[in-house]
Amino acid sequence: MTTLWVATTNRHKAREIAEILEPLGFEIVAPQDLPEVIEDGATFAANARKKAISAAAHLGRPALADDSGLEIEALGGEPGIHSARYAGPGATSEENNALLIRRLDALGLVDPRARFVCHAVVAAPDGRVTAEATGRVEGVLRWPGAGGGGFGYDPLFHHPPSGCRFSELEPGRKNDVSHRGRALRALAEALAGA
Ligand code: IMP
Repeated sequence: MTTLWVATTNRHKAREIAEILEPLGFEIVAPQDLPEVIEDGATFAANARKKAISAAAHLGRPALADDSGLEIEALGGEPGIHSARYAGPGATSEENNALLIRRLDALGLVDPRARFVCHAVVAAPDGRVTAEATGRVEGVLRWPGAGGGGFGYDPLFHHPPSGCRFSELEPGRKNDVSHRGRALRALAEALAGA
């Protein structure tokens, strides 16, 4: 069994990471009190590497980080790497979603195309990136929000192959099709081959 220390303060992300990787033979540990990382990279990959490398160095253990977000074509890729803080530092999901809906309403769009992106990285304590992978899932945005599951932008993200919002999927089903599920399954394969 390979143990990975997961570098996230987002408990929803930590839970999904454990749900995806534990059946593949990984033990996922979510340490508290990791040093804060300034996410000033220009890409999901740069920010994920920064978080994984910082956590691995601090813990002296192999660390896993994901950087993820929502890209909307009609908004030039926004909120993208700013997804967590779209409505400002410390913004809640409700505030981020409300701002997004205001912007989309102002454009008068119907079912604008959107994709979730996740870049996942495992780093070693010596600063080496030992595996990384990106996952994407395409959909459209619909509002007002619906469904009670998931987190973040899930209530607005309609996934046509599933016929519903991410927040309306049965528990566990999101991981089968999500950006995070895809990235982490590819990461697990890369680690197996490393
Ligand atoms: P990060 O923690 O810097 O990677 O920020 C990720 C942000 O992107 C989250 O706070 C959400 O706003 C959004 N996000 C990423 N993945 C998901 C998802 O699976 N569902 C909904 N929102 C997501």
